[in-house]
Amino acid sequence: MQRPVAVIGLGSMGSMALWQLSRRGVPAVGFDQFPLGHMNGAFSGETRMFRTAYSNGPHWVPALRRAKELWRTLEAESGQALLDLNGFVSIGDRAADRIASLIGCATAAGVEIEMLDSTEARARFPAIGVEPGEVAVLDKAGGLIKPERAVMAALDQAQASGAELRPSCAVTGIEPDEGGVTVETPQGRARFGAVILATGAWSQRFLPPGLVTPHRVGLHWYLSRTPDLFVPDVFPPHIRYVGGRAVCLFSSQDRTMVKAAIGGSLGPLDAPMDARTAAPWERAPLSKAIARHYPGLWPHPVRSESYADGFTADGDGVIGPLPWAPRVLVAAGFSAHGFKIAPVVGAALADLLIGGMTAMAIGHLRLSRFEGRSPGLRALA
Ligand SMILES: Cc1cc2nc3c(=O)[nH]c(=O)nc-3n(C[C@H](O)[C@H](O)[C@H](O)COP(=O)(O)OP(=O)(O)OC[C@H]3O[C@@H](n4cnc5c(N)ncnc54)[C@H](O)[C@@H]3O)c2cc1C
Repeated sequence: MQRPVAVIGLGSMGSMALWQLSRRGVPAVGFDQFPLGHMNGAFSGETRMFRTAYSNGPHWVPALRRAKELWRTLEAESGQALLDLNGFVSIGDRAADRIASLIGCATAAGVEIEMLDSTEARARFPAIGVEPGEVAVLDKAGGLIKPERAVMAALDQAQASGAELRPSCAVTGIEPDEGGVTVETPQGRARFGAVILATGAWSQRFLPPGLVTPHRVGLHWYLSRTPDLFVPDVFPPHIRYVGGRAVCLFSSQDRTMVKAAIGGSLGPLDAPMDARTAAPWERAPLSKAIARHYPGLWPHPVRSESYADGFTADGDGVIGPLPWAPRVLVAAGFSAHGFKIAPVVGAALADLLIGGMTAMAIGHLRLSRFEGRSPGLRALA
C-alpha cells in the first residue's frame, strides 16, 4: 500500500494541499497544533482581498486566474459560498508607482480594468472619498474571499475523500531519509512517504534560519454611521496608496462594521503568538486616513486584532522540495498576500508530490530562487 503523505499545518495552504491530494486519491494525514479553524492563523480575520490586476507584476496573473477557477471548484464541491466578487478598487495619484505598475500589469496581461476619475468614483462608490487628481482603478474580477470558511470547506472535502485529520497535535520534529520521513508528535512517531510543510509563521522550526520569519499583520474594525453605503455593491474592497503606505478597506460583512488595515508587515516578531499582544501603533495613522476619506465611519476602531504571517526576504512565498530532503515539500512565507492563490499552491504541491512537476504558474515562487542567496539553504544543501 502507498505510504500516506503528512501535511503539517491545516491553515490556508495545508488545507488546500490536503483537499487536492485526497481528491486525487492520495492517502494523507493532516496535523495542526491548534483545533481546526482556530483563531491564530494567517487565515483568521473574516475576509481576504482577491484581485487579478496586481501591481506586483503581470507574472502573477496566470496564477490569480487559475486560483479563481479553483476557488469556484471548491465552492461547487463543498456547497459553500466562499467568494464575493463585486470588484476590487485601487486608489492613488495617477502618477504613483503602484498605480502605474497596476495599469502596466493589466495592460500586459489583458486584465479588464476600468479607470474612474474622482467624480466618477464618488458617484459609483459614495462612501469612498477619492480626491481630485486621484484615480480609482476597478478590477472587475476582484473582490473578497471568506478565509475561515474556505479552510473549513477544504478540510471537510479532504476528510470526505478519505484524509485523516489530527487537530491539536503539534509536530515537534521531522526526520527525512531515503525511504520516507518520520514525523514526531507528543503522541509518538509515525512514518510517511513524504511531508508537506505548510506551517506559516511557525516555519522557522523546520527551515534554515532567516528563510521564513514571523511578522505581525493588524486588522481594525470601524463602525459605520450609514450602513447602506458600506455593503459590497457600493463599497467594494479597496487599497489606497498614500505616502508609501497601503491603506486597505473591506466591504462590511454585517452592515455594522467595516474592517481596515495598513497593508503588509507591521514588524518582525520573536514568536508568532506575540502577534496577538503586540502594541497596535498603526491605529493613529489608520484612523487619520479614515477620518479624512470616510466620513461615514466613526474614526475610532471598536475592535482590533492582529495575526502572524511568515515573511521571506523578497516578500513572496516559497514552494518546493528542500534541496537536502526531496521528500519534504515546503509552502510558506506568503508575506501577507498569499491567501488569494492558496488553492493554486495546494494544487501545485499535489502535482509536485505526484509527478515531480506542475503546470501551475508558480515559477516566481520556487524555493530554489533562494538557493544561492540564503546562507541556511546554501549550507544545508
Ligand atoms: C491579517 C492578515 C491579512 C491578510 N490579508 C490578505 C489579503 O487580503 N489577501 C491575501 O491574498 N492575503 C492576505 N494575507 C496573507 C495570507 O492570509 C497568508 O499569506 C496565508 O494565509 C498564509 O497561509 P499559511 O498556510 O502559510 O499559514 P496559516 O494559514 O497560518 O497556516 C499555518 C498552520 O500551520 C499550523 N502549524 C504551525 N506549526 C505547526 C506544527 N509544528 N505542528 C502542527 N501545525 C502547525 C498553524 O497552527 C496554522 O494552522 C493576510 C494575512 C494576514 C495575517
